[in-house]
Amino acid sequence: MSLSKRQSDTCSGICQYLACLALLLPMPSALAGEAAVEPSDNESDVLQDTTFDADSRSSETAAMAEELVEAVPAHEHLVPLADAVTTAEGKAEPLLLLGTEIMPGTAHRLSWSATELFEGVPVSTPVLAVNGKLPGPTLCLTAAVHGDELNGIEMVRRVLHQIAPRKLSGAVIGIPIVNVQGFRRGSRYLPDRRDLNRYFPGNPNGSAAARIAYALFNDVIAHCDALVDLHTGSFERANLPQIRADLRNPDVVTLTQGFGSMVVLHSKPTVGTLRHAATLAGIPAVTVEAGGPSQLELAEVKHGVKGLETLLGTLDMIKKKRFWGDPEPVYYRSSWVRADNGGILLADVSLGSTVRKGDVLGTITDPMSNQSTELYSPYSGRIIGLARNQVVMPGFAAFHVGIQSDDVVVKDEPEALTQKPDTGGYVDAMSE
Ligand SMILES: [Zn+2]
Repeated sequence: MSLSKRQSDTCSGICQYLACLALLLPMPSALAGEAAVEPSDNESDVLQDTTFDADSRSSETAAMAEELVEAVPAHEHLVPLADAVTTAEGKAEPLLLLGTEIMPGTAHRLSWSATELFEGVPVSTPVLAVNGKLPGPTLCLTAAVHGDELNGIEMVRRVLHQIAPRKLSGAVIGIPIVNVQGFRRGSRYLPDRRDLNRYFPGNPNGSAAARIAYALFNDVIAHCDALVDLHTGSFERANLPQIRADLRNPDVVTLTQGFGSMVVLHSKPTVGTLRHAATLAGIPAVTVEAGGPSQLELAEVKHGVKGLETLLGTLDMIKKKRFWGDPEPVYYRSSWVRADNGGILLADVSLGSTVRKGDVLGTITDPMSNQSTELYSPYSGRIIGLARNQVVMPGFAAFHVGIQSDDVVVKDEPEALTQKPDTGGYVDAMSE
């Protein structure tokens, strides 16, 4: 049965789609118990944990990740990603995925399960796969690695169901909900409070998170020639649709340029993220951030879908439609502006606003004393992420300013990546 047929049969709208998934999956009656080692939802912990320079595990884990990635069949790209379709020869091959042979020109919905619940019932999640009639690369789309990030789930559904297998060159694999256990509880984390996106490429003998990461990486990601991991902002923060990419890698640059009109933020991936592990294994990967958690935001979903369809066109996997829009700027540096006082934060800017150094970004008012303080932009740039209006504590990262650079060449270690957090500098993976 084709994906599009199945879609019209069973899941026509977002709500129905989510309801379908809920039906598809067993209800959690018990969750795997394991001592919490990751930070709580307290945002100051999270900010520290996700600060690039403050990642205490980085060097040790980087070496470990490299060792584990060696177990995955190496992806030696003899031709650049951009030329993968035009240089593909012969007929399309059947795609062997999760024990199923997907013949060229067909689409399948498969099921992947990485782990068992406490009582031994496997937790499965759908994997949508379209194998094109014509030869070409395999592009993978992953969403909801953080279980409360919903926009990417809908992007994967829309993109996968709109592909005509007979007209596709190569294959597209979509996993709409990687972190099923988090998704079912409306949580970013796994039931043991671990952040799955800090455990790739995983370890078959490690924690629950490491095992899930390992299974996903080996069962699915190892089949990909390129990967787009879909995310949103975290903890009541929203991101302007943007691509996070390590622009020192030429195939990553190809991926990035393929999206058309989407803001690009150069960022070296944090160790343990799917983006980091995939790129390390020779599978160029980018993260797309769009909107905020726990909501389905139609404008952001449409923006992401348009970007992904433009990418399929620029990679020559589908018939090229007109290239989408003027390329958006590339930001080589960015900085979060933090609250110095606690209180009620109200923004004076919105996502995408252009700001000048010294502009007021928002106001924090103490509801008891009625005293207000203003947050100013330390840079000229653009608002690429912001906190939704809410009560904040001192130190809360409120506004993410992209600082445009005229430098076309990316140096090996851009200044932004080496800044210390206490200088108000670069904070990567705030949500990724
Ligand atoms: Zn995320």
